[in-house]
Amino acid sequence: MIDNTDIRSMFPEEIAAICKEMGLPSFRTEQIFKWLHVEAVDSFDEMSNLSKDLRKKLSDVYKIFNCTIEKKQVSLYDSTVKYLFRLHDGEFVESVLMKYKYGYSLCVSSQVGCRMGCTFCASTLMGVVRSLSASEILSQIFAVQKDMQIRVSHVVMMGMGEPLDNYDNTLRFLKLATHPKGLNLSMRNISLSTCGIVPNIYRLMEEKLQFTLSVSLHAPNDEIRTSMMPVNKKWNVDTLLKACRDYTNATSRRISFEYSMVKGTNDSDACAYELAEKLKGMLCHVNLIPVNAVDETGCIGSTPERVRKFAAILENHGITATVRRTLGADIDAACGQLRRKQMKGE
Ligand code: SAH
Repeated sequence: MIDNTDIRSMFPEEIAAICKEMGLPSFRTEQIFKWLHVEAVDSFDEMSNLSKDLRKKLSDVYKIFNCTIEKKQVSLYDSTVKYLFRLHDGEFVESVLMKYKYGYSLCVSSQVGCRMGCTFCASTLMGVVRSLSASEILSQIFAVQKDMQIRVSHVVMMGMGEPLDNYDNTLRFLKLATHPKGLNLSMRNISLSTCGIVPNIYRLMEEKLQFTLSVSLHAPNDEIRTSMMPVNKKWNVDTLLKACRDYTNATSRRISFEYSMVKGTNDSDACAYELAEKLKGMLCHVNLIPVNAVDETGCIGSTPERVRKFAAILENHGITATVRRTLGADIDAACGQLRRKQMKGE
């Protein structure tokens, strides 16, 4: 269920129903949707081709959720930009803009905080406050595009929160962000990362969408994975990998496995061999990244040599692996680091 006053989270059909109820001609639907999703206005007053009276009527009932920049940090190393956004109720979320050869990629948040409890992650240290609406996820893109005067071409749902713990709004976001009359992002340029909420991976599968599914695996067996990710107690490695195989079979889309490497925990040669064995024959790719150190977690990233050796073992067993660059290391670019500092008053 969406908040039925949150007009930027509505599909054109839903706006059409409102227009009909208000006795407006049907072309108003397209105008309003365009103002919300192409012009990305933050108020009804900016909708200049609607009469003053109509703008007033709409604003009496409906809200346009946006986010404002609370803090912005630009990395001196690689021009990655980290934003701390304030939402309408005073909560904070983070987004990270990265520049690649192929364009701008924005990492967006799906919840304020997170309740998944991964031991290495800053987003979950204070639990979850609430989920974001589709419009609040979208508004992170709009705010960055306006601030930087650029067009974001790629979106990764890898910011704060667990997108599949906010399933309906996440699905709505995917559909709105790729709507041809709206932002019109390519579904193939969107990645969604999950810690492995298995039933919702199956629900997503039914949608047959062309985005890339990333799965935060981080360990090859239950013993290590449970010690890092409490969600593994509910859906263990075998259950998750079965869902992933079913997903690739149903969609023919390759899955990306995220593997954040924590020194002395999940980075041994034995782990690499076990991982290669478990992923054998699957349509997949592994992204290795040394974990970003977060003070409270006590986790330290693996050395570059360890990461390279781990990657080499996977490659030798026919599993493609990429060692990811760590961008924005000087600006707290890892999930949840900036909001955590804001809350602690640092
Ligand atoms: N909840 C989703 C998406 C958000 S986290 C998920 O779990 O996939 C995005 C990715 O960053 C996940 O793979 C997550 O495990 C990883 N991550 C979180 N904190 C990290 C850190 N300190 N260092 C490296 N990766 C981290």
